[in-house]
Amino acid sequence: MGLFFPAMTDRLRFAPSPTGFLHVGGARTALFNWLYVKHYGGQFLLRIEDTDRARSTDESTRAIFDGLEWLGLTWDGDVVHQGANLERHRRDARAVLEKGKAYCCFCTPAELDERRKAAESRGETFAYDRRCDRLPEDEVARRVAAGVSHVIRFRVPEGTTTWDDLVHGGITFPNKDIDDFVILRSDATPIYNLAVVSDDIAMGITLVMRGDDHISNTPKQIMLYDALGVSLPRFGHLPMIHGTDGKKLSKRHGATAVGDYQHMGILPETMLNFLALLGWSPGHDIEVMSVADMIHAFTVDGLSKKAAIFDPKKLEWMNGQHLARAESERLLPLVARGLIDAGLATAADVEARRRWYIGLVDLMKNP
Ligand code: GLU
Repeated sequence: MGLFFPAMTDRLRFAPSPTGFLHVGGARTALFNWLYVKHYGGQFLLRIEDTDRARSTDESTRAIFDGLEWLGLTWDGDVVHQGANLERHRRDARAVLEKGKAYCCFCTPAELDERRKAAESRGETFAYDRRCDRLPEDEVARRVAAGVSHVIRFRVPEGTTTWDDLVHGGITFPNKDIDDFVILRSDATPIYNLAVVSDDIAMGITLVMRGDDHISNTPKQIMLYDALGVSLPRFGHLPMIHGTDGKKLSKRHGATAVGDYQHMGILPETMLNFLALLGWSPGHDIEVMSVADMIHAFTVDGLSKKAAIFDPKKLEWMNGQHLARAESERLLPLVARGLIDAGLATAADVEARRRWYIGLVDLMKNP
């Protein structure tokens, strides 16, 4: 990694797609962005990436808000809903076209499919052959005027795309490995990479910190910044989270929704502490940390490239540590709910003998 200069004016964002619950991986990304801002200064923004109308739900957006609120990961300013920015996405796609960095492509999905199959049958990987980029200008104008269905396709330049990743150091992609990609579909809806770049520019984002699964999007996004003539933010890609078997964390490993852990009695400070250690090390051996400890210790140097292991046993152990530190008064409602649900106490009794129940919570603490 090159020299690292944090800026008090840095603007970071968490940009979840509301297509399910708040996943532990998403919460970890949100936490690292938030910790960065709390440690170095700057703004932490929230953008709901709801352009995929078919898969996005209000319920899922609510689950994201609830999860972040439970964890105390408050964001600055108003929530940005990506779907509300469609007009700007279109304008930006057209600007790329007008600057001569993209072209209209009239190939139909059926034609592309046929060519893809033909390439595969020859044992080749399909790449768009740029035939529409070779159409004469007047022919393009004629087809567009006649309303012939088309997409806008980005013309990937020659050379390589490189960035200095906050976590991985220098990353280089040969551009020849990247196909001319669509930025605006035939129904004038933007492709993900264009919407992200358009929104990150509009929100003044200076550091994009997200999961490693986005590394392959980054060269395309960098090309779009260049095409639009906008200076680049920095990028940092956080390691994936794996289960104890070394495989990518999934439902097979148990609960993956933050809300499930809340309902299991995990304290929010435990969850934050546990998530913080998935891809970051404070540089000392003390694992049990308060939020203030984490903010103090969080530095970019402590970010790891290696996949992090999600160990539910460790989470449980850590919860015991945080429960032991928590005020019994605060824990009483949580414990009372469990006792009442199990038929071991009544709400009236808990109310009448509060001190006794608080004493019971004290006894149950098991550091
Ligand atoms: N919406 C994307 C996701 O949920 C994140 C986009 C980004 O951080 O750039 O994975």
